[in-house]
Amino acid sequence: MPLVTTKKMFAMAYQNGYAIGAFNVNNMEITQGIAAAAAEEEAPLILQVSRGARKYAGLRFLRAIIDATVAAVPSVPICMHLDHGDTFETCKQYVDEGFTSVMIDGSHYPFEENIALTRQVVEYAHAYGVVVEGELGQLGGIEEDVIGVGAEELSKHLTDPDQAVEFVERTGLDSLAIAIGTSHGAYKFKTAPKLAFDVIEQVARKLPGFPLVMHGSSTVPREYRDLINKYGGQMPDATGVPEEAISTAAKMAVCKVNFDTDLRMAMTAAIRQVFAEKPTEFDPRNYLGPARDTIKTMVKGRLHVLGCAGKAAECSEHPSMVTAHS
Ligand SMILES: [Zn+2]
Repeated sequence: MPLVTTKKMFAMAYQNGYAIGAFNVNNMEITQGIAAAAAEEEAPLILQVSRGARKYAGLRFLRAIIDATVAAVPSVPICMHLDHGDTFETCKQYVDEGFTSVMIDGSHYPFEENIALTRQVVEYAHAYGVVVEGELGQLGGIEEDVIGVGAEELSKHLTDPDQAVEFVERTGLDSLAIAIGTSHGAYKFKTAPKLAFDVIEQVARKLPGFPLVMHGSSTVPREYRDLINKYGGQMPDATGVPEEAISTAAKMAVCKVNFDTDLRMAMTAAIRQVFAEKPTEFDPRNYLGPARDTIKTMVKGRLHVLGCAGKAAECSEHPSMVTAHS
């Protein structure tokens, strides 16, 4: 199946009460692990690229890896998405590169400026059949160069449902990342967070059928943190977003949930374990291979939490519905 946008995925996810997993890709092994999980679970998939990933691997390599993935798992509808685009020019460039979805994150700007910037990206992207995600309200934590508010500030920066309605209507965007108390990165919370499900509910009531997005929703699995620390790492104790909270949001209007930290932790845990248990090992295939397998196992679990396992077929698009831009 060629690359698809999120249109059909989100329509199905909204209607049938699940969410699509959006996973950050930085290299071949991470992408293969995610794709293998989606293929085995027959789940639709969003592969997303951050500016940090681009700085690390280069857009040409990331594109080639994603193109290869699309060819390798023809049963899985895959959307290629830019995560946290910062300017119109960045978003334009990814649209021109053939990405099927871009995010413009103007959440740090005043409301009117966020609207103007988002609208500009929407007008450009829609002309090429590319969908746009925007953001309103402020998330916590740090993700590469995306810096949010502190944990104690989170509740003051939640998305205002009335503003969300105005934002969606005036920008014409396709999905909206909302702040409901989640936080980027591995060191999210000291105790399990209380997410503002009422914000999701209110937006859903005011904008029925409109897909919402959750960022900063890694679960920060204890299992991987314990392995990392057992094999010489030093990750402080921290709590992520509980799986039940992700499932609850997925059954509501949340149609896309982003995961990055969990991938990093799974990969690091597996590599540390090989290095500790087999100190003579120096063939990268023998530690990147287990890392890829661990990512696959982790992602399979997430796909069940999201409820999108088994939904690849209903999210598949007729070829004529797929964007022709490339
Ligand atoms: Zn994010």
